[in-house]
Amino acid sequence: MKDYPQEIIKDIEQAKAAFEAMLVEQYERNKRIAERSSAAEQAADGKLVIGLAPGDGIGPIIMERTKAVLETLLTDELEAGSVAMKDIDGFTLENRLEKGETVPADVLAEMESCNVLLKGPTTTPNAAMGGKNLESANVFLRKHFDLYANVRPVSLPKEGIDWTFFRENTEGEYALGSKGIRIGDSFSMDFKVTTAEGSKRIAKAAFDFARANGKKKVSVVTKANIMKKTDGDFQGICLEIAKDYPEIAVDTWFVDIMAANLVNTDIRSGFEVFVLPNLYGDIITDEAAQIQGGVGTAGSANIGSDYAIFEAIHGSAPRMVEEGIADRANPASLMTAAVMLLRHVGFADKAERLEKAVAAADDKLGAKMTGLADGGTCAEFAEAVMEAL
Ligand code: NAD
Repeated sequence: MKDYPQEIIKDIEQAKAAFEAMLVEQYERNKRIAERSSAAEQAADGKLVIGLAPGDGIGPIIMERTKAVLETLLTDELEAGSVAMKDIDGFTLENRLEKGETVPADVLAEMESCNVLLKGPTTTPNAAMGGKNLESANVFLRKHFDLYANVRPVSLPKEGIDWTFFRENTEGEYALGSKGIRIGDSFSMDFKVTTAEGSKRIAKAAFDFARANGKKKVSVVTKANIMKKTDGDFQGICLEIAKDYPEIAVDTWFVDIMAANLVNTDIRSGFEVFVLPNLYGDIITDEAAQIQGGVGTAGSANIGSDYAIFEAIHGSAPRMVEEGIADRANPASLMTAAVMLLRHVGFADKAERLEKAVAAADDKLGAKMTGLADGGTCAEFAEAVMEAL
């Protein structure tokens, strides 16, 4: 190394120090996860507070309609005061850029004062938007509330498809995404992390769900043949956890063949529950949502030990706003997230009512909800849901 240019030696020394700091940080993180209580906290006064943060782009349009649906379903509880809904303002791109904060402190405090949050999509700012290059609000919130399980259901009853994906939400490539290193202009490296405790808790979440919902199989999806340490550990830990659930079968797949399996109509209906590390989960669930009818139809839950956020899987669709067709946004995605929220807080019957109403609206209008200028509108779809309710 002594013959290397000075700046390369300096970069390597800096990278060594940065790597050491990362190792310490992840060791501490793994310890913290193990210590964390898994008991869900209830609001001190027993009241359930649902936060509503519309976000950017098409977010406010689909949120307005979803809020109206929730108000209809929860009329009695809202009147009795056992449930409250809190509008959270300021979770907009403009405000975030102006304050120079991924989630401005006052907005975060509002979110913290709720038990669960229904969240609209948020645009991830970049340097070209004339502010600091802020972190993604989703990544920030997942880390802040330690929402380790990203749960995404996909269902296509006509084809016998009823899948539930458990994507690990706090580790993998995303945990250290902004901590990569570059050595001169020679090469760069990013990092991926899998902790034992992080893998155990997502595996348990998937198997608990399978047990509670009468599912017979959990599929573990990795690239353990290539990423031998991180994915190898993830797969190994899932198989260990599986031993506590002898009534549930477990199989392992590599992510490339799983991407193919999902479009293989001969076998895909045989899958039920999936558990995946972060990046593969991100990609595979978008593919699955497309099979269901597009990202506009899919909702997801980000669940931690004491907080949960429910949202559509798509983004803020700035192109729809620019083209003046934001009113064509399909609210089914956020309404499906609301179904998951209702189920999570114990309103299973209301969740089912909403699920059926969204399915009825989808039967009637789904094919028209293309998000294009000649497609159906958010208002039309929402009215069909209200009618079905
Ligand atoms: P996007 O998901 O916002 O939109 C891609 C396309 O999908 C749209 O142009 C539209 O054609 C279609 N689409 C999305 N939602 C729809 C709906 N409800 N109804 C009908 N059609 C719909 O993806 P993008 O354009 O790549 O991302 C835009 C911004 O959103 C980026 O800044 C990205 O970082 C952010 N993002 C946020 C989230 C989130 O908040 N959960 C998720 C993904 C992306």
